[in-house]
Amino acid sequence: MSLTIGIDVGGTKVAAGVVNSRGRIIEKLKRPTPSASPERTARVIAEAVIDLLGRHQAEAVGIGAAGYVDAVGSDILFAPNLAWRNEPLKEQVEDHVGLPVLVENDANAAAWAETMLGAARGHEHVMLVAVGTGIGAGIVINGRLYRGRWGIAGEPGHYRVVPDGRLCGCGNRGCWEQYASGSALVAEAREFARRSPGPAVRLLQLGGGAAEGINGPEITQAAHEGDAAALRCFEIVGAWLGQGLAALAAILDPGCFVIGGGVSEAGDLLIRPAQAAFADALTGGTYRPHAEIKLAQLGADAGVIGAADLARRALAGGKLAGGKLAGGKVAARAQSTAPLSGPEPRDGPSPSRRTSTTNPVTKAAMAASAAQPGTVQPTSVATSR
Ligand SMILES: [Zn+2]
Repeated sequence: MSLTIGIDVGGTKVAAGVVNSRGRIIEKLKRPTPSASPERTARVIAEAVIDLLGRHQAEAVGIGAAGYVDAVGSDILFAPNLAWRNEPLKEQVEDHVGLPVLVENDANAAAWAETMLGAARGHEHVMLVAVGTGIGAGIVINGRLYRGRWGIAGEPGHYRVVPDGRLCGCGNRGCWEQYASGSALVAEAREFARRSPGPAVRLLQLGGGAAEGINGPEITQAAHEGDAAALRCFEIVGAWLGQGLAALAAILDPGCFVIGGGVSEAGDLLIRPAQAAFADALTGGTYRPHAEIKLAQLGADAGVIGAADLARRALAGGKLAGGKLAGGKVAARAQSTAPLSGPEPRDGPSPSRRTSTTNPVTKAAMAASAAQPGTVQPTSVATSR
């Protein structure tokens, strides 16, 4: 069975996995991301690949990166949480590993994996919304990843939901991810604790006595214990999430929203209020079918699996040039590469793949922006509409 390597590059760690043609990870490893140095990050990726190649014979490498990736799957144009600015990542890694490399946005890779193998299996119109520090997203339309003209489609985290609202890491104000992300959850809880220390006593206790000590895990723990303040924080953030999904449904009409990212580990605490707010906010909701809102199933592995499968498909479709050290050999073996089954085989010609030798790709990223505690204003669900 042919193998490809999938890489998920986040702000803190690089995860690399050898993935078979059924989407199963054979071996996985993790390295810290030297986020301040693009060159060192590329080297860490290459070292992880070479390490895995010592034990497995893989044919191509797919990299899912938290950044804006160009339309041909080659360069990272910009990354909110890493030092990448117009960085030729494909070339940098290919030079070291000798295999063809495809670069993709990390949320796109995760959306692809969840559609092929995870929560949205069987759907052809899917939007994955990754709720972490910020909000990332990936869009599948008609069974194909939708990347937009420049590769940057699918950045709803920076869609403005509150004019002159909270300052975002991107420089604008009122972005959705300032209200519906993990950062927003923490901001709500800290604000609550500062404003009403009495009702927030459990949150403060878990945070070591200070509002600043309250982070995601403390809020989730308190909510699981039934703490009213923590539950209220999830209700507020979940409601923002559901309202945003209703706005996205107005544009894309997907059959399924998959909610991933670190905050989704809270499960029903986040999903239930999101589902309720979605149903309330959906225009014509009484008279139309509603998209499913489901928790992601592949967890932290989605990026690795999706990147590996996208590289496999690009190679099988003859759309992935590459591997300066072993290009001929790779091309010869490409025939045996069979993509995962899914809504639609992607190896036929398509507009998104016209671009030459490298592969299409991309969109944008998990623009996680740091919370701006100083700028966060008290808010409530009522302010959102
Ligand atoms: Zn923003």
